[in-house]
Amino acid sequence: MIRRPWRRDAARRAMDCAEAAREIQAFVDGEADSFAAVRLAAHLEHCGWCAFELATYREIKAALARRRSPDPEAVRRLGDFGASLPGGGPQPGE
Ligand SMILES: [Zn+2]
Repeated sequence: MIRRPWRRDAARRAMDCAEAAREIQAFVDGEADSFAAVRLAAHLEHCGWCAFELATYREIKAALARRRSPDPEAVRRLGDFGASLPGGGPQPGE
C-alpha cells in the first residue's frame, strides 16, 4: 500500500507566501475554493506582505470595475459641459 502523507500534510501545513500569491488573485476574483480561501485567510492573519498584496489586487479590481461602469453623475456633468460649448458640442449617440 502506498501512503500519500503529503496530501494531508498540505492541508495542515501553513501556506507560504509563494502559494498565497497564487491564491490571492483567484480569491479576489471569487474563484478560490473554500479550502484554499480558509488557508489563505490564515496566512493573511500573520503576513502583512500578502495582506498588502491582497489589498492591492482589490484596489486594481475596483478601479477596473469603475472604468467599466462610470459614475452616471460624472457622465451627466460631462454631457452638460459638452452642451455648454459653442455649437452644442457632441450630442449623445454620436
Ligand atoms: Zn505571505
